[in-house]
Amino acid sequence: MLKCRALWRKLAPLSRSASTVCRHNAKTTALNNGRRQALVPATHMSTGPVGGGGGENTLYVVLVGAVCLGGGAYAYMTVKGDSKRYDERISEIASRSEKPDPEQPSVVPEPEVEAAPSSEESTIPAAEAARESEPVSAAEEPVTEATQSPASEPETVQETPAEPSVELPPEALPTAVPETVSTLLPVPSHAPYLLIGGGTASFAAARSIRARDPGAKVLIVTDESDLPYMRPPLSKELWFSDDPSVTETLRFKQWNGKERSIYFQPSSFYVKPEDLVSAENGGVAVLTGKKVVQMDVRGNKVKLDDDTEISYDKCLIATGGVPRNLQVIEKAGDEVMKRTTLFRKIEDFKSLDNVSRNVKSVAIIGGGFLGSELACALGRRSSETGLEVIQMFPEKGNMGKVLPEYLSNWTTEKVKREGVRIVPEALVKSVAFKDDKLEILLKDGRQVKTDHIVAAVGLEPNVDLAKSAGLEVDSDFGGYRVNAELQARSNIWVAGDAACFYDIRLGRRRVEHHDHAVVSGRLAGENMTGANKPYWHQSMFWSDLGPDVGYEAIGIVDSSLPTVGVFAKATAKDTPKAATEQSGTGIRSESETEATAISPIASSTPAPVVEHKDEYGKGVIFYLRDKVVVGSSYGMSSIGCLLPER
Ligand SMILES: Cc1cc2nc3c(=O)[nH]c(=O)nc-3n(C[C@H](O)[C@H](O)[C@H](O)COP(=O)(O)OP(=O)(O)OC[C@H]3O[C@@H](n4cnc5c(N)ncnc54)[C@H](O)[C@@H]3O)c2cc1C
Repeated sequence: MLKCRALWRKLAPLSRSASTVCRHNAKTTALNNGRRQALVPATHMSTGPVGGGGGENTLYVVLVGAVCLGGGAYAYMTVKGDSKRYDERISEIASRSEKPDPEQPSVVPEPEVEAAPSSEESTIPAAEAARESEPVSAAEEPVTEATQSPASEPETVQETPAEPSVELPPEALPTAVPETVSTLLPVPSHAPYLLIGGGTASFAAARSIRARDPGAKVLIVTDESDLPYMRPPLSKELWFSDDPSVTETLRFKQWNGKERSIYFQPSSFYVKPEDLVSAENGGVAVLTGKKVVQMDVRGNKVKLDDDTEISYDKCLIATGGVPRNLQVIEKAGDEVMKRTTLFRKIEDFKSLDNVSRNVKSVAIIGGGFLGSELACALGRRSSETGLEVIQMFPEKGNMGKVLPEYLSNWTTEKVKREGVRIVPEALVKSVAFKDDKLEILLKDGRQVKTDHIVAAVGLEPNVDLAKSAGLEVDSDFGGYRVNAELQARSNIWVAGDAACFYDIRLGRRRVEHHDHAVVSGRLAGENMTGANKPYWHQSMFWSDLGPDVGYEAIGIVDSSLPTVGVFAKATAKDTPKAATEQSGTGIRSESETEATAISPIASSTPAPVVEHKDEYGKGVIFYLRDKVVVGSSYGMSSIGCLLPER
């Protein structure tokens, strides 16, 4: 092209007339079907002065000839070059049609949508898919963290010569492989709604996000290997199941006799994480076995424990809590730790079930809801297997921190009747492993020998992400401080056990109960879709000591507060069993309406004050702070005893 321009400049004085000839000749040649044209007089061809002699004419013909030749050569080279580029372009377009759309899922399609695979499972299709994919251009792919994932190692892909169907042009391989792998990761690089934690609050949020935004794409990341499930049956109904395979099925008969699974939804409810991006109507995907270890709140992204990064538009932190342990146990060494269960998850239920079938004695430390429920569950088993069940706590009676003393005493009697040896006012001084037994030494000198310990001594809200995210943790209650809309800062909400929220009526609080997890998760989900609603719900909670005795409560229930109790005779309807029959669910809070969580308790209080405890079986207790009712508990029993109220 440059050469052509130089030539053109040299011929400039003649160029105007010459170009006219060329254009004219070309046109007429075409019109005359290639017939040769007679030479046209120069005067008719030129815009310049009239032509002169034959010498000039000869020179002119030579120059025009040269120009035509040069032009022809240039045209030939250009067309040839274009033809080559054309071929390249066509093959590029052809290869693109087989390359995944950046907006589409970058995986080999699966025949059916199943629940989120385990982390091990999910890496397999990625590697396989990588082998079968066509090369793509790096510049045109969505940003992923391919090179950081083990599944994206190019070597992994190249170690698969057995794959017959791949026909890659050899020159395409070196650049194509890493990019191909990057598009096949099972982890989406972006989630419009990212929920950290796979517990009750997250699941409730996912459900409400989808209810308000039906096409929403929601990704739940959980470090557990299970899909979202409810925890309450782990210390209740599952222990009373007749099914010998209950630890596998995790199905249980509710107190109302109906059977259900502890999982909120079957696996078919969920979209696979790798399919989330392409899911036409959105969906909820669960990435199991992955822990979020870092949050970049400015960059709107998180990092997982395998270094994968996921960006988000809106994020929920619902990381729940971690069971506390006693320092004296932690310091006692491996042999003691090996024989200690901190009870929170499915695997803890499975392992304690197994332990209780293989040891002679289990000691539960802790007198609260969890400790008392497990004591009753194991105690009932003791009548069949001869297992010794011991429960010890610093208070005088079971649930002594919650129930007024007379009700705590009543509850303790109930627990004893379940076959549990109660050791009250017990402060553990040390634990040691000697002669194949755990020796628990109490501060008052008493000693308890056992084979296994269950430490049910409270929960530490999981705020591991606070540091990297720069989020505030409440110094009094623990948990992430959030505003009335459960928002910690722009685009980040917190719900469930991990949230320290402002209760309009009762002040700043943190609540560790199922109903709160459901309702706060649901509200956070709504607010993530723009609802901007405050959290005003007074959540309820419950505890069941087997099928016959149960408690429900709302607000602040603290035995150090003054209480007023009102009791009535119990009927057959006043049992946990009847309560679940009435609601039609095994999880009492799953009526899930704020009204049902509160109003029945308030309206059931006209009963007389109890005089003969053994004749009354249900009641309500009001907790007063500064002469204002701040909590209420309701108890029921079918065994003819006075029941608690909180
Ligand atoms: C055995 C048992 C019985 C119970 N019974 C009752 C009852 O009868 N009534 C009642 O009201 N309440 C009960 N509760 C309490 C209730 O279950 C909890 O309040 C509720 O589960 C809290 O829900 P959550 O979603 O906030 O947290 P969780 O359910 O604990 O879920 C948090 C999840 O996040 C995961 N996670 C944490 N950090 C990360 C991270 N960085 N990355 C990825 N995942 C992470 C955790 O592994 C966990 O799966 C019980 C609890 C237990 C353990």
